[in-house]
Amino acid sequence: MLTIALSKGRILDDTLPLLAAAGIVPTENPDKSRKLIIPTTQDDVRLLIVRATDVPTYVEHGAADLGVAGKDVLLEYGGQGLYEPLDLRIARCKLMTAGAVGAPEPKGRLRVATKFVNVAKRYYAEQGRQVDIIKLYGSMELGPLVGLSDKIIDVVDTGNTLKANGLEAQELIAHISSRLIVNKASMKMQHGRVQALIDTLREAVETHHPH
Ligand code: AMP
Repeated sequence: MLTIALSKGRILDDTLPLLAAAGIVPTENPDKSRKLIIPTTQDDVRLLIVRATDVPTYVEHGAADLGVAGKDVLLEYGGQGLYEPLDLRIARCKLMTAGAVGAPEPKGRLRVATKFVNVAKRYYAEQGRQVDIIKLYGSMELGPLVGLSDKIIDVVDTGNTLKANGLEAQELIAHISSRLIVNKASMKMQHGRVQALIDTLREAVETHHPH
């Protein structure tokens, strides 16, 4: 059995056509189903529906052989426990700092609200900047509006969410897209099947999302 972990929403919607090109089609609609393990038209391939931030955990521990995770999630997860053989070129966005439009740089220590705590620590450490990082789980845009923080770090697509809240994107931290990740033991023990799937998906990416 090959088990593929992915999250509902944007990543699932954009991954299904790529899996279909590899002949893998879920037997029920994962967006509608309450099931967390979804069989596919290939008897020996199944999908695990998990939280986006949990995908690397399932794959690193071998509960899933493969997974699809945003680069933002992978940067925050960190570690060397996974292979990342393929950029799926889906769910593209940017990881950015943002602040209130026209706000001056604070005099003292910068306060940054984000769910990307590890990314934030690394980013400001590289710049040699002392910052206070405030962990949030969502609605980061509120931070600067209510004086919780000076800036936020979040993923930005159109920028409409920032704009609607009087914020502007400032520094680019990383270009983001979803990646295929593979458990290290699965890559060794099931090399033929896993490599074949990677190759088929690579071709599907070239067709669906050419450079
Ligand atoms: P935007 O188009 O910039 O207004 O983004 C809408 C919301 O979706 C924001 O809260 C973003 O943080 C989030 N978002 C946009 N693109 C992605 C993505 N590729 N992955 C995860 N979240 C995203």
